[in-house]
Amino acid sequence: MTAPELLPCPFCGCTTIVQARAGVACYYNVCDWCGSEGPAEYPDSDTPQGWNVRTPSPEVAALIAEARREDAKLLLDAYKGVLVLMRILNKAGLVAGASAADQISKRIVDAHPEFPGMASLRALKEETP
Ligand SMILES: [Zn+2]
Repeated sequence: MTAPELLPCPFCGCTTIVQARAGVACYYNVCDWCGSEGPAEYPDSDTPQGWNVRTPSPEVAALIAEARREDAKLLLDAYKGVLVLMRILNKAGLVAGASAADQISKRIVDAHPEFPGMASLRALKEETP
């Protein structure tokens, strides 16, 4: 039986969840950022995975949503900055620098495929000469 994909931490939104052994036949999941622990998990049983059924309090859910909006704004600003840099380097004839900026922009897109504004970012890049 393969373990189901784990949802982000319900308390901080972190997506890096690690497993800690709790016994011979069970383990528990731990958030790598805030350290919150889930209930004991039994990989060979048919019981639901406890980590994925926990829900944050409304206050924490609101904080997570706000942090994600802020992250999205920062990501968009960083992406726009890289495109501006790429344009300046291209105009200056600094091909290697422009190529490096292009690689950075691709890494931003590849690292955040779930970003809601990614389609508009791609369109923005295509408009950049
Ligand atoms: Zn956490």
